[in-house]
Amino acid sequence: ARSFAGKKVALFGLGGSGIATGRALVEGGAEVLAWDDNPESVARAEVEAIAVGDLRAADWSGFSSFVLSPGVPLTHPKPHWTVELARGAGVEVIGDVELFARERIAQAPAAPFVAITGTNGKSTTTALTAHILRSAGRDTQMGGNIGRAVMTLDPLAADRFYVVECSSYQIDLAPSINPTAGVLLNLTPDHLDRHGTMQHYAAIKERLVSGSDTAIIGVDDIYCTQIADRLEKAGRQVVRISKRLPLPDGYFADGTSLMEAIDGRYSRIAFLEGIGSLRGQHNAQNALAAVAACLKVGLDLGEIQSGLESFPGLAHRMEQVGRKGNVLFVNDSKATNADASAPALSSFPRIYWIAGGLPKEGGIEPLRSYFGRIAKAYLIGEAAPAFSATLGEAVPYEISGTLAAAVEHAARDAAEDAAGEAVVLLSPACASFDQFRNFEVRGDAFRAAVHAIPDIVPIGG
Ligand code: ADP
Repeated sequence: ARSFAGKKVALFGLGGSGIATGRALVEGGAEVLAWDDNPESVARAEVEAIAVGDLRAADWSGFSSFVLSPGVPLTHPKPHWTVELARGAGVEVIGDVELFARERIAQAPAAPFVAITGTNGKSTTTALTAHILRSAGRDTQMGGNIGRAVMTLDPLAADRFYVVECSSYQIDLAPSINPTAGVLLNLTPDHLDRHGTMQHYAAIKERLVSGSDTAIIGVDDIYCTQIADRLEKAGRQVVRISKRLPLPDGYFADGTSLMEAIDGRYSRIAFLEGIGSLRGQHNAQNALAAVAACLKVGLDLGEIQSGLESFPGLAHRMEQVGRKGNVLFVNDSKATNADASAPALSSFPRIYWIAGGLPKEGGIEPLRSYFGRIAKAYLIGEAAPAFSATLGEAVPYEISGTLAAAVEHAARDAAEDAAGEAVVLLSPACASFDQFRNFEVRGDAFRAAVHAIPDIVPIGG
């Protein structure tokens, strides 16, 4: 990180991304003093020749910047002690995305940089954008809040494309973030526990698009609509996308196609049917954002269309894992609360639904409007009694207990479904920790159980 050459930089948090950041700073000629409360992390930094020392005892007046690793609390429930020390000494507090943004401006300002945020759909849109660029033969680096930390990506070059997923936290610590195309997908009042008020949360996310050459904004919620209007009034270049409303200018989905609109003239970009791994209205929003971003960084429509078609989808997010006759098996293990299960339930007409785990407040009551699509529910984990009470007379259910039993019974029942096409869907609307280490392990267990069904045609690994 040459933009910090000769400067003294404090660094806290020596996990994978912290170490990568420290290494980049040292290689760029900065004088780094790093610390972590975990002695094992400190030992790892020493192996990497990153100087370590207790920042509690350091003289903060000499630091020009303080770099905070992801995961260390910036504000909630209260600022980390290092943040208080830095602020007390008037030292700027930044994160690794800020280092990346400054490096890009210093070294390769022409390097196409797509940054993506929003309450939901960040990972899908990031992975899809990177996939389209790669399949069009562009040298593409993807990272940030997904996959690799930004400072571990390949060095900046004018013809290298960067696609970076940004959490609110990363934007908050990146005051000069300056993407070529900045994407704000949507804003809903999730995660407010960590960000305080909705105004504060929206203001952080707005910074990503207000710093962009082109702001690509989903206008299906009121917060994002206001941001788009405000930026346009301020003379910024704004591209609007909508997953449900025809727009006079921008990109929208009309139920069967992704459309481009220029001055009220429409043209089709893709049939939704042709992009099977991007089922559902929510994914239309993600796909439109990726299309707009790829156009902005110079791809042509043909390249984008073939990338859309070949996108394999992301694991655990409405991931198709197998088919047997008329029954499709879908892994949506990432859905750890009712809101996250809604897109999957709204995407299929006839569902054998595996749900449960460690319940969240409110249970599955918010999903009541989808109950008519559920042929039968298979309840697992600690949530089973509460969920069965909500389903009541409205939906047939069994308490399966384990995921293995649920898969077996749902597969059997769906195979006998006389209605034709049916889906066995794991979309738990619950955290996994009562029975699994995390949602990935739960989804992997589902995929393995499906692949073990006799005569199954597996999809994917
Ligand atoms: P994130 O990275 O923002 O958590 P993901 O792409 O990992 O988002 O998707 C997580 C889940 O969020 C999906 O399984 C789906 O249920 C839901 N989701 C995805 N995209 C959207 C969207 N554009 N709008 C609303 N919900 C979405």
